[in-house]
Amino acid sequence: MLNVFHLTKKYHRFVANDNLTFTVNDGETAVLAGPNGAGKSTAIKCIAGLLRFEGEIELCGYKNKSTEAKRILGYVPEIPAPFELLTVWEHMEFIARAYNLENWEDRAEELMYRLELKDKRDKLGKELSKGMQQKISICCAMLIEPKILLFDEPLVGLDPHAIKELKLMLSEMKEKGTTIVISTHMLESVEGVWDRVFIMMNGRIEAERTRTQVEKSGENLEELFFSITEKPAVKSE
Ligand code: ADP
Repeated sequence: MLNVFHLTKKYHRFVANDNLTFTVNDGETAVLAGPNGAGKSTAIKCIAGLLRFEGEIELCGYKNKSTEAKRILGYVPEIPAPFELLTVWEHMEFIARAYNLENWEDRAEELMYRLELKDKRDKLGKELSKGMQQKISICCAMLIEPKILLFDEPLVGLDPHAIKELKLMLSEMKEKGTTIVISTHMLESVEGVWDRVFIMMNGRIEAERTRTQVEKSGENLEELFFSITEKPAVKSE
């Protein structure tokens, strides 16, 4: 379970996240949706413990910057940053050692197979295309079997096979009780996978809905999104 309490993040005087409070339960896939600049990536980076912030963030009850929290967190950044001089397989080995994993090899092989990285196992990070680098990030995050998984714009740059496979992997992880948070401005990319959505604008959460609420209201996610994010434009007409 992920708990965010009164998260505020300022870049100098600019408030990128303004007093965000939200919870994502075990086995739930939440989407942070919002236009460019809404503050989604900033929130994800704060949750991942990469930025200083005001407020509190707990991962399964552990403060997000604690070692216990880091052990159970998988994070796929928006811009992949593989080690230039490690091969694909060495990335797996590096993560396995860093996290003290046991019997990880079969799982690494399976992840590489599913994301079509197997024939690239001896290629160096710097020799890979952006999409392949993204796939390494995903394999590394999933190898540790995280309890909380953060994805920043996960489908950008992936090929259709990888998108299909990733969605399948996400639903498998959800079945196992993993808490998943996906940030995106492309709503169609999360169709069919989300349970809860937070719509962000100007650093704030302007709306929170469960899938059931949206379905019951007869609205779809896109309509809800535009009714919130395009409100000022409508007002000024
Ligand atoms: P999103 O992911 O929703 O597109 P971001 O969280 O990346 O939004 O950015 C939110 C706001 O914070 C934007 O206005 C952006 O310009 C600003 N911002 C992001 N990173 C920095 C930074 N390192 N320094 C200053 N401003 C930043």
